Amino acid sequence: MSDDIVENVSSKKRSIASCCSDSIDPSLSLSQAQERIQTIARSCFLNTFIHNTLLLPIREALGYTLAHDVKAMFDVPAHTNSAMDGFALNGAALSQRDQRQFLIAGTALAGKPYPDTVKPGNCVRIMTGAAIPSGCDTVIPQELTQCVDNVVTVGAGHQCGENVRYAGEDLAKNDIAIQAGTPITATELGLLASLGTTHIEVTRKPKVAFFSTGDELRPVGTRLGPGEIHDSNRYTLYGMLTRLGLDLQDLGVIKDNPSALRAALEHASRHADVIISSGGVSVGDADYIKDVLDEIGAVDFWKIAIKPGRPLAFGTINGKPFFGLPGNPVAVMVTFYQLVRPALLTLAGLKANPAIRFKVPCASRLKKKPGRVEFYRGVLESNELGETIVRSSGKQGSGVLSSMSRANCFIVLPQSQGTVEPGDPVDVEPFEGLV
Ligand code: AMP
Ligand code: MG
Repeated sequence: MSDDIVENVSSKKRSIASCCSDSIDPSLSLSQAQERIQTIARSCFLNTFIHNTLLLPIREALGYTLAHDVKAMFDVPAHTNSAMDGFALNGAALSQRDQRQFLIAGTALAGKPYPDTVKPGNCVRIMTGAAIPSGCDTVIPQELTQCVDNVVTVGAGHQCGENVRYAGEDLAKNDIAIQAGTPITATELGLLASLGTTHIEVTRKPKVAFFSTGDELRPVGTRLGPGEIHDSNRYTLYGMLTRLGLDLQDLGVIKDNPSALRAALEHASRHADVIISSGGVSVGDADYIKDVLDEIGAVDFWKIAIKPGRPLAFGTINGKPFFGLPGNPVAVMVTFYQLVRPALLTLAGLKANPAIRFKVPCASRLKKKPGRVEFYRGVLESNELGETIVRSSGKQGSGVLSSMSRANCFIVLPQSQGTVEPGDPVDVEPFEGLV
């Protein structure tokens, strides 16, 4: 209940300002805001991070971004080899109509090749991964043969070249194996190891300083006085930033006081690459972020046509991107995922990585007026017919973190969209990979 009141009060507070200021300073669309932020993030990356790489042993590079293309210095696999346990032979000796017999001349194991050329009429017992011996081009799996003493009988209908993995089939020598801007995950570690790479150059991780603002905020573990609340935004921010594997600097809670905010922002701009705060960006009496940013840095914009999250300060301080996120807990998460995360990925040297979006029928009625992009919290699930649908996860106030916790996706309603009726198709963005 209180969240709805908070939502109503703050929108009333805003609407007083909006009716005067919107005509002079209209809100930016979400895509315009995303573009402006990306422009600054890209120039920041090109000015600083691209020149600022680290050479790391490959295991330590897990979670970093590759700074330069890695080329294959040899074919992968390096030699043509068997895909099965069976018998290697010359495929020209096989028949489409009759069975054929071969004399077993020896064995080839992975790492222990058969040293001679296999003569016509002979074959070699071969294990998966062993090099195909000279004179052979085909492997017949063991279970498709009969073997008596030293003689193997192969049935009709096999093809020349069966069950052979060719040298360079995965990567040919000088191919680009991994492109600059690729995140180093378990897959890349394996690929790098298969190339014999011991060290790689990675982009330095952005250092992110973050803090909460608000006189009403108390840390967890303290008793709340009248009107006080626990600071939860620093915990969601910590979680979201940690998921991105960035270097973090938690600056705690800063009071609603211009000189304290100035000191925190100046400190952060000297010690971090990106600064994120929450709260204090509205037009209330204790909202000082925009004024302080104006004074010590440059404000780029501060109103975006989205819900939740409309008032948001973005700018730079000493050339460092600053995001003044709203105070309401859900608004923090929505603006982080839509605006901050893409910028952090760019600074971390990653290629553009848009969130996955697809359309499904919506089982709930979602009230909306055209004019801004709205992010409802939804539950993607299967209905009784096995079709994927989405429904609202519950109360949608911008302070209702529990509906975010129950959700597994955002329902993204575009700017021009009105109310959604049950059965209407809507765009969803799954949280998987985000939260
Ligand atoms: P503000 O933008 O500072 O007016 O904050 C909007 C709403 O979000 C108010 O109800 C605040 O109490 C709440 N809020 C601000 N910061 C936090 C925080 N760090 N954790 C939880 N709620 C917050
Ligand atoms: Mg506040």
